[in-house]
Amino acid sequence: MKKLLVLGAGTAGTMVANKLSHVLDRNEWKITVVDRDEVHPYQPGFLFIPFGIYGQNDVIKPRRDFIPPGVEMIVSKIEMIEPEQNRVRIAKDNRYLNYDYLVIATGSHPRFDEVSGLQEHEWHKSIHDFYTLEGAVALTKHLRAWQGGRLVLNIAEMPIKCPVAPLEFLFLADWFFHEQNMRDRVDLTLVTPLTGAFTRPRASQLLGDILEEKNINVVPEFLVERVEPDEKKIVSYDEQEVPYDLLISVPVHMGDDVIERSDLGDETNHVPVDKHNFLSPRFDNIFVLGDAANLPTSKAGSVAHFEAEIFTENFLRYVDGLEMTAKFDGHSNCYIESGFGKGFLIDFNYDVEPLPGKYPLPGIGPFSLLQESEMNHWGKMMFRWVYWNILLKVKEMPITAEMTMAGKWQ
Ligand SMILES: Cc1cc2nc3c(=O)[nH]c(=O)nc-3n(C[C@H](O)[C@H](O)[C@H](O)COP(=O)(O)OP(=O)(O)OC[C@H]3O[C@@H](n4cnc5c(N)ncnc54)[C@H](O)[C@@H]3O)c2cc1C
Repeated sequence: MKKLLVLGAGTAGTMVANKLSHVLDRNEWKITVVDRDEVHPYQPGFLFIPFGIYGQNDVIKPRRDFIPPGVEMIVSKIEMIEPEQNRVRIAKDNRYLNYDYLVIATGSHPRFDEVSGLQEHEWHKSIHDFYTLEGAVALTKHLRAWQGGRLVLNIAEMPIKCPVAPLEFLFLADWFFHEQNMRDRVDLTLVTPLTGAFTRPRASQLLGDILEEKNINVVPEFLVERVEPDEKKIVSYDEQEVPYDLLISVPVHMGDDVIERSDLGDETNHVPVDKHNFLSPRFDNIFVLGDAANLPTSKAGSVAHFEAEIFTENFLRYVDGLEMTAKFDGHSNCYIESGFGKGFLIDFNYDVEPLPGKYPLPGIGPFSLLQESEMNHWGKMMFRWVYWNILLKVKEMPITAEMTMAGKWQ
């Protein structure tokens, strides 16, 4: 039996296990998936929790519900990857798992410990986050009783997952405080290391305009050095200061520590791979998918989905000694909630900026690219159902893994 080992049963690992379990011969292949816990979170749903739109039970399901029959699932921390020996050591019974092929899909995680002063005595009091389930739940309670003041959202450093999520948080906060009849008592500010609202110039311009329309301040090119929790201010490396009453932090993200322990990552523990086929340049039987990979595209569930399609096509050829002909183009798309029941959608790849148009059906939509619409909002709200029922179970979707120019206006 040939052994395929998948590390991480999040968005990417689950999709890969599902896809390959359909197409690999069960008499020839054994597929094993390892994850440290039993609960699969729908991370895009964390955004809605602080505003009472979702509760925590709306965003979690048992991981095993999404692991197909015939695939072994082991719940354990992964301790060490030993590529020279083609094996992985896990914490459970201190066991070694041998493999012929390895897929690393251990994700990328916010590192609050990387910003000094963040996780001290004011943590979950005047300093919060919404990138973790616990953080989003704690923030819900805080917002329920908050009387207003200066709300500062600070992006510490790139990369972060879903780089539009901090903007969505501010758009939803604007809406939420309007609904609570207290918008005039709240000052909203985005403090970002970027030169503008987003990583891509055209979308950055549009999103910057929306922030301005909604009276949300932007402090660009701010590289946070520390938080002073008693003074309630954040301070940059060049000694700029931004005071707050409520700080929402989106810290730098790093690949899991197992990547560092195994000496496989870059300075943020993300693993270098070929950007078109996800193969490690160092080990010809290791692929890296999802947020764990060091790729010049967004860290997003949509990216993991497109990657899983390309990877499956290539993997079947690769194990037969054929050339990998499918090429990942960096395709990413993302709904952007803009509040008041509306939203945007962006679709782009390594080379093409987000452009206006209709998606996924050219000229028809129903979703509008780079334009605000109610339909886009409903797309985002429906996405949770799509995630659990279609995406993770790898059922057919009417969208292609490669980005298409059809329906886009130049
Ligand atoms: C607030 C927020 C909003 C978002 N919004 C969107 C959105 O609107 N659209 C979008 O496309 N994406 C969005 N995302 C991003 C999306 O959720 C991620 O990009 C996606 O889940 C990445 O999948 P992954 O499989 O690479 O990582 P994950 O889904 O994080 O899975 C990694 C898995 O590896 C396991 N693991 C890691 N290390 C170990 C170890 N040492 N031992 C055992 N197990 C380990 C973890 O337990 C985890 O289950 C959002 C994310 C957040 C936080």
